[in-house]
Amino acid sequence: MIDTPPALRHPDGKFRLSCVVPAYNEAQQIDDFLTQLTAMVRSLSDDVDIVVVNDGSSDDTGAIVARAAQHLPVHYIELSRNFGKEAALQAGLDAATGDCVVLLDADFQHPLSVIPRMVERWQAGVDMVYTTKADRDQEPALRRLGSRLFYRLVASRHGAQIPADAGDFRLLDRCVVDALCALPERNRFMKGLYGWVGFRSEGLAITMEERVSGESKFSPLSLASLAATGVTAFSVKPLRMVMLAGLGISVISFLMALWIVFEKLFLGQEIPGFATLAAAVFFLSGVQLISLGIVGEYVGRIFEEVKQRPRYLISRETGTGARPLQPGGPHR
Ligand code: UDP
Ligand code: MG
Repeated sequence: MIDTPPALRHPDGKFRLSCVVPAYNEAQQIDDFLTQLTAMVRSLSDDVDIVVVNDGSSDDTGAIVARAAQHLPVHYIELSRNFGKEAALQAGLDAATGDCVVLLDADFQHPLSVIPRMVERWQAGVDMVYTTKADRDQEPALRRLGSRLFYRLVASRHGAQIPADAGDFRLLDRCVVDALCALPERNRFMKGLYGWVGFRSEGLAITMEERVSGESKFSPLSLASLAATGVTAFSVKPLRMVMLAGLGISVISFLMALWIVFEKLFLGQEIPGFATLAAAVFFLSGVQLISLGIVGEYVGRIFEEVKQRPRYLISRETGTGARPLQPGGPHR
């Protein structure tokens, strides 16, 4: 078969470019950010919309973005409370109408200068252009260790391929956006879902910038909780490990029992062993509680899913492309 190069997507530059920006307490720089982002995307396409999802900010982010929506191509969506970045991203994806959609943070950490390269790759036929951190070495050792452990746990040969160190800064083709929006789960771990849907993907190694103001909203604890969501949503390895631990302990205790019988019958020795007994009981209770906890983590996720609550609620929407609100907002 002759491998013909795929035709360029919209070589005339006539395509709709959407951006999705989740924002939680970003008042200090969001105005500047939206001005610069608009200039950047307008240089790539005449038809742009920037969906800003205010994830229940307690500062002036909402007022500033709503004002910016009067003179910039901004579609402002306000969630009824803080639902977390994953839900905010989903709200943005549900609202974005572009042929391709760029997801990026509102804190200038994702360099805007990378967007033209992403769009170029998309035009060349790539469905998802993700970015990877080229400089992980500067992160605290514990965080690096945690992320290594995480990627080891979720890696699988046949399931979703989650590229290590790939962030949320990425460009998605319309087909990927539609596929993501069609996934029914409530507990959304976006990095996993991007991998799960597949499509032609390509990574760009980039250097992330420093946050311009304020600080990261993700504490080590919230990162760990996000990782737990990711692992339970994409892997049953922890359950297998529990089973293997149980199997290992059973085999060892069976051998120990055999040895005790042998000692008593043939060597005539009694094993004095209150301390050993106590240690063994404590050890086993520990293993059982950990196992129960791991199983409980999965049961908890199932509980979340069966409730079928909407992933987010919208309390206000203005600007370009704003949709009329249903009572209580669009339930998703
Ligand atoms: N964010 C959000 N909801 C949250 C936490 C964060 O929408 O509950 C947004 C935040 O405004 C920013 C992006 O997600 O645009 C990334 O957050 P942050 O910079 O705090 O995280 P980090 O860069 O450390 O991953
Ligand atoms: Mg950031």
